[in-house]
Amino acid sequence: MPILQITGACFGYGGRAVLHNVNLTVEAGDYLCVVGENGSGKSTLVKGILQLLPPQPGTVRYDGVTFREVGYLAQDAAPRADFPAGVFEVVLSGRLGHRGFLPFYSRADKRLAAENLAVLGIADLRDRCFRELSGGQARRVLLARALTASQKLLILDEPAAGFDPLVSAEMHRLLKKINAELGVTIIMVSHDLSAAMDCAKHILHLKNRPLFYGTVADYWRSAVGRAFLEHQPEKCEND
Ligand code: ADP
Repeated sequence: MPILQITGACFGYGGRAVLHNVNLTVEAGDYLCVVGENGSGKSTLVKGILQLLPPQPGTVRYDGVTFREVGYLAQDAAPRADFPAGVFEVVLSGRLGHRGFLPFYSRADKRLAAENLAVLGIADLRDRCFRELSGGQARRVLLARALTASQKLLILDEPAAGFDPLVSAEMHRLLKKINAELGVTIIMVSHDLSAAMDCAKHILHLKNRPLFYGTVADYWRSAVGRAFLEHQPEKCEND
């Protein structure tokens, strides 16, 4: 069953399209990785999916998931030095959009937040101050918050960018687990093609329009995939 359908969509800024002719159906349970060179329109597509940029023309439609049930982890999300919240509070804040007019979180909200701390292996950080965490720990907390916002669809823009290979590998392992064990649909922008190829089920390659969309195995065999893989850092070839 499709969870997201984009039809005949162009996205851009100030009336100028930078991403053309996107037709995409994401099935529930899929793990889609969006790749392409810098400036190819990956973040623009994410903004379009998050309805921050309207398609002009075209449509973006969710099925079986409301917009508030979409969990999002931004590329530059990081603890702020002046942000005094505790880890559990940060994870729980993923439920903010679900609270309606209630001034407090429900018992179910708190249980879900605690479960997601455990899923991400950071239950021991529960009472720590968020701003005192390392970058890698903070990323995991923010992923737990996104998962607490949505058990259906996670959208991640470069979730491991700027981290060392160990933190990056751990992040991708967790995402793979969330997809495989919890059945959460994942749409992820990534520069790390080797991690993407290992985790994802489908690849969308953009160059201001879709150049390839299909399975990971077909991407390996495609001219677009082979050309892009050849220009990746060495670790790809050694994997
Ligand atoms: P990627 O994420 O693949 O690096 P982006 O989606 O960020 O690419 O950018 C695609 C194109 O849109 C680029 O040419 C970029 O300069 C342009 N662009 C991105 N953000 C804006 C903006 N806020 N206003 C105008 N142009 C933008």
